[in-house]
Amino acid sequence: MAAFFNDAYRGNPPWDIGRPQPEFVRLANEGLIRGKVLDVGCGTGEHAILFAGMGLSALGIDAAPLAIQKAKRKASERGSGATFVVGDALMLGELKKRFDTITDSGLFHVFSDSERPIFAKSLGSAMRKGGTYFMLCFSEKEPGGWGGPRRVSRAEIRATFGEGWRTDWIKEASFATRFHEDGGRAWLSSITRI
Ligand code: SAH
Repeated sequence: MAAFFNDAYRGNPPWDIGRPQPEFVRLANEGLIRGKVLDVGCGTGEHAILFAGMGLSALGIDAAPLAIQKAKRKASERGSGATFVVGDALMLGELKKRFDTITDSGLFHVFSDSERPIFAKSLGSAMRKGGTYFMLCFSEKEPGGWGGPRRVSRAEIRATFGEGWRTDWIKEASFATRFHEDGGRAWLSSITRI
């Protein structure tokens, strides 16, 4: 999986739109992104750079070294204080840090059924109590014809974040890509560590 993504970053992958997802810009403008922020599966860094630009401490983590290389270059070109590290989202405890907000644009829908509970545990090990995980993933309402990542249902999201979590809301949202005019159909979730 890591090799698949790393190779994708040799070119311009469809999700790498050169700006943050509008859904995360909206959350940031609403003041919902706060404190120390971790962006998991950060790709080339647009979200961490957005949050750092608002004066937040922002770290991006991604398993693809090429994505992190591109993110670091972007941050330095734009004078951003966002930091980036190569690492596995399934082992976030290794960071030995706790975050107030964790954001995920397009990572959750990559995981297999068996990885989902491991990911939830990993997130829990890097999140302060009362901290919130905001996640954007493709929904089952997005037609399958063009391929793309796994589609995810609301029930699957709720089932992954059971004990130790509270699902605040899961809203209809859109996921911008290089080939969707108005974005693909997605869910935006707010899930709090309790
Ligand atoms: N958030 C970025 C990238 C989304 S694509 C954006 O919005 O553009 C999904 C990303 O998750 C890829 O960059 C991929 O390398 C990363 N990824 C996949 N599995 C991972 C894992 N186990 N740990 C960390 N990153 C992972």
